[in-house]
Amino acid sequence: MGKKVAVVTGGAGFLGSHLCDRLINEGMKVICLDNLLTGRISNIEHLFQNENFQFIMFDVTNYIHVPSDVNYILHFASPASPIDYLRFPIQTLKVGSLGTHKALGLAKEKKSIFLLASTSEVYGDPLVHPQSEDYWGNVNPVGPRGVYDEAKRFAEAMTMAYHRYHALNTRIARIFNTYGPRMRLDDGRALPAFIWQAMKGEDLTVFGNGSQTRSFCYVDDLVEGIFRLLISNEHQPVNLGNSEEISIVDFAKEIIRLTDSKSKIVFKELPLDDPRVRQPDITRARNILNWEPKVNREEGLKITLEYFKQTLK
Ligand code: UDP
Repeated sequence: MGKKVAVVTGGAGFLGSHLCDRLINEGMKVICLDNLLTGRISNIEHLFQNENFQFIMFDVTNYIHVPSDVNYILHFASPASPIDYLRFPIQTLKVGSLGTHKALGLAKEKKSIFLLASTSEVYGDPLVHPQSEDYWGNVNPVGPRGVYDEAKRFAEAMTMAYHRYHALNTRIARIFNTYGPRMRLDDGRALPAFIWQAMKGEDLTVFGNGSQTRSFCYVDDLVEGIFRLLISNEHQPVNLGNSEEISIVDFAKEIIRLTDSKSKIVFKELPLDDPRVRQPDITRARNILNWEPKVNREEGLKITLEYFKQTLK
């Protein structure tokens, strides 16, 4: 029997490229589609000599044609950091809507299993804490984050419509803050921003008073969760993330400590609609996928720091 074929949209991105690695390690052939808007060749160039890997520079908001059979489609294409989707608001809306439609169309044509990379942003600035999958969220559709949040909410609705109407075999992963090697130092997120600032000895820019919380998941744990969801038979959304929550100001202090930096913390204006709290309820993932994160923050941050040091050499 031939190898299974997986298409990964956004395969040159942070999460997408780790997924390409994982799927190849699982014995699949991977076709990576990316228009390199926020993805990078350096994330995938180690795969270029691999006969089971193919990269096609492509904008998935256009009709997608793949000649071969396709067993799995993982739709990970999208700007995903607040700075990126503020810089590319229309592209973000298009890839979440038109891109999801095209990727679902390909899945229908090829009778593939389809997995959508959704996000904790569907919960917006949540009024329920921690967030479980049955919470519908608190999103400002016309705020600056609306371009990402609403695109992903539309993508979930579209995925469920293809599941219900076309009987497509679909999965929805709601991904919470994830970090690790291959994040862009300049993607504007708190974690790379703080690490970069600490390494340069600059002040760490905490937005607001830093009491807002996030819960950070190491990328290997996340990829394990995605893979388990892919091979499960679960059609309802599943939260994937680490439930260990920390305030942003404590997180900044942690980065200063881990980098042995002399940097100080400065406080800047809080961006509009910045969620005040965020922590995944991962009961469903535990029960259905028998999954939970294994890497604690200190361990994961050390690996990530090492990666950033290497890339800056
Ligand atoms: N943040 C910060 N300083 C920065 C970048 C981000 O204090 O230089 C804050 C941001 O306002 C948010 C949290 O850190 O409250 C996490 O932001 P991030 O951009 O990592 O992603 P988000 O979880 O908001 O999507």
